[in-house]
Amino acid sequence: MRKKQFKAESKRLLDLMVNSIYTHKEIFLREIISNASDAIDKLCYLSLTDSNVGMNRSDFKITIKIDKEARTLTISDNGIGMTEEELEENLGVIAKSGSRAFKTKLEEGKTEGADIDIIGQFGVGFYSAFMVADRIIVITRAYGSDQAYRWTSEGEDGYTIEETEKASVGTDIILEIKQDIGEEHFSDYLEVYQLRSLIKKYSDYVRYPIRMDVPKSRPVETEENGEKKTTYESYTEEETINSMVPIWQRTRAEATDEDCTAFYKENFFDMEDPARIIRVNAEGSVSYKALLFVPTKAPYGYYTKEFEKGLRLYTSGVMIMDRCEDLLPDHFRFVKGVVDSEDLSLNISRELLQHDRQLKVIAHALERKIKTELLSMKTEDAEKYNQFWHEFGLQIKYGIVSDYGTHRELLEDLLIFHSAKENKLISLDDYVNAMPEDQKYIYYACGESAERVAKLPQAERILDQGYDMLCLTDEVDEFVMNALAKFKEKEFRSASSDDLGLETEEQKKIAEDREKEAKDLLDFVKDSLGGKVANVKLSKNLKSHPVFLSTEGPVTLEMEKYFASIPGDNKPKAERVLELNADHPVYATINSLWNENKEKAAKYSEILYTQALLIAGMPIEDPEKYTELVCELMTK
Ligand code: ADP
Repeated sequence: MRKKQFKAESKRLLDLMVNSIYTHKEIFLREIISNASDAIDKLCYLSLTDSNVGMNRSDFKITIKIDKEARTLTISDNGIGMTEEELEENLGVIAKSGSRAFKTKLEEGKTEGADIDIIGQFGVGFYSAFMVADRIIVITRAYGSDQAYRWTSEGEDGYTIEETEKASVGTDIILEIKQDIGEEHFSDYLEVYQLRSLIKKYSDYVRYPIRMDVPKSRPVETEENGEKKTTYESYTEEETINSMVPIWQRTRAEATDEDCTAFYKENFFDMEDPARIIRVNAEGSVSYKALLFVPTKAPYGYYTKEFEKGLRLYTSGVMIMDRCEDLLPDHFRFVKGVVDSEDLSLNISRELLQHDRQLKVIAHALERKIKTELLSMKTEDAEKYNQFWHEFGLQIKYGIVSDYGTHRELLEDLLIFHSAKENKLISLDDYVNAMPEDQKYIYYACGESAERVAKLPQAERILDQGYDMLCLTDEVDEFVMNALAKFKEKEFRSASSDDLGLETEEQKKIAEDREKEAKDLLDFVKDSLGGKVANVKLSKNLKSHPVFLSTEGPVTLEMEKYFASIPGDNKPKAERVLELNADHPVYATINSLWNENKEKAAKYSEILYTQALLIAGMPIEDPEKYTELVCELMTK
C-alpha cells in the first residue's frame, strides 16, 4: 500500500492547527459533527425522491462512542458515505469550502498570532481533528456501493486508503486521541461530561440526534440481616444530547443575538459580526421561518461575476438547497441566511423549485422585509447605515438602473448621497424636505470626490441661492439619476444643465440678447478650438469662475469617463460645450483681443478650454502645448 502525500499548501495549515492554542482545539468536534450532519442531509434529501434508500427522516443519527482504554473517540453517521474517489478528493487536500475561507485569510498575510485566532471562528473542517488526534481513521461506505474503504493518516506525512468492510452505509471517524502533555489535557475529550458540554455549546441545533452512552445510576434496594439498604448501581444508557431545534426555529428568548451571530460566523465563514440580524416568522398562505444576515463587510470578490448569491433552503428541517438563488433578488445579493418552510413540497426537484409558487411568495416577502430592515437601520443608526452603504450602496444603485428601472420604487428610499450643504450623507427624502418653497429641482453634480464636486464652477450659483446639491462620485450615479428622473414629483437636474431654473423670465430675455450679441465672438472661439467642442456659449450657471464644460445630447462627461474605463470599442463620447462667463474680466479680455489680435485670442481660447477640462477632471489632450501657452502668457 503506497502512502500518498497531502498537497503542499495543506501542510502549512496542518502545522498551524496542530500548534494552535488549547481552547481552540475543542472546535474539532463541531467540525466532525457538522460534516456528519451534511452527509446525512445528502442521503436524507435523496430518500425523499428515491425509495431505494429505504430510510425515514427519523432513522438518521450521529453516534459518539468513547473507548478510554484504546483512547479512541468515534463519531459515526448513517449519511451518504464516500466512494474511494471521494475519499481521495475530499480528504486528500485541505482546500474544501470551510478550509478555503480559512486559507484565504492566511494568504492575506496575517501574522501567525492572528492566524491562530481565526481557527476558533472558522469552519476549518476535518483537518482540525489533528489538533487532538495523533491518528485519524475514516471507515466509509458510500450509498449505492457494497465496498467500504479505510483511510488512515497521522497528519503531516500523508495518508493511505485500503479496502475494508462495513455493514451499513455511512462513515465512522475514529480519532486516536493524543496523550496529555503539560497543560494540554487531551484526555478530556474522552470524558462524557466534556463531550456533552461541547455538543451543547457548538452543535445543539444539529437537526439529527447526536447519541452517546451516558453514565447513569439507579437505586437498588437490598436487604441484609433484615435491614433494608439502598445502594446505587451504575449503568450506561444511550441519550440524545442535542436539542435538535435549529436556531431559526427558536424564539428570540431562546436564540439570543449572540447565538445568531455565532451561527452566522460559523455557517457563512465571516470573521465579522453581521451588521444586522433579520428574523422572520411568517404565517399565512405560506408559512416559513427565516434567519437572515446583512454582513458588515463585502466579502472578497463580491462585486465580481464569481460571487454567488442565495439563501440556504430547508423544508421541514431537511436541507434541500445550500444556495437557493431564486430567494434573493440581485439588489440584495449580499444577504446571507436560512429559510425553512413546511409548505414547500418535499420531493420537488431543484429544477422545478424555480417555478414554485410558494417559493415566489417567500422571495417576494423577504425582499420587502430586507428593505424594511435596511430602512430601520438607516433611521436607528446613521453611522452603521453609512458603513453598510460604503460596502453595498453600489449594489443598491445597480439595482435601480437594472431591469429598466423596475425596482426603483422599492429601492429609492434606501439611497443616500453626499450633500454639499450639510457635508454628510443624506437621503432623497431629507433633500426634498429641506428644499425651500421656490426651489424647483433636485440638483446634482458629478466628480471624483464630494469636496471637488462642491467646488465645481457650475455649483456656485445653486449653492449661493441657498439650495443644496447632491455630490455624486460613483460612475453609476448619473445613470441612477436618469433612471429615477423624479423623486416625490421633483425632477433631478444636473448642475451643468442648460436651465437650472434659477432665473426670472426677464433675466432669461437679457441673457438671450447677450448671447445674440456675442455670436461672432463665440463662433470665433469655437473655430479656433478646431472641432474639439460642439458649441461655445455664454453660461447661465457661472458666477465667479470664467469657464466650465457642459455637454449636449445624451452622453455626459461622467458617462464618457465611465465608458472609457470599461473594455470595448467605439465608446460613446460627450458632445462638449464650452461655456463662458460674460461677467468675468477674462471674457472682456478675450473680447477685446478678438478685435485687436486674433492669433492671441485663439491662444487664449485654447487656454480657457484646457482649464475647463481640468476643472471637469477630464484628461487634457496636449499638456505640453498648454504649458507652452501659459509660459508664453507669463513672459509676454
Ligand atoms: P468542508 O466540510 O468544509 O467541505 P472538510 O475538510 O471538513 O471540509 O471535509 C471535506 C469533505 O469531506 C466534505 O466536504 C465532504 O465531502 C467529505 N466528508 C467529510 N466528512 C464526511 C462524512 N462524515 N461523510 C461524508 N463525507 C464527508
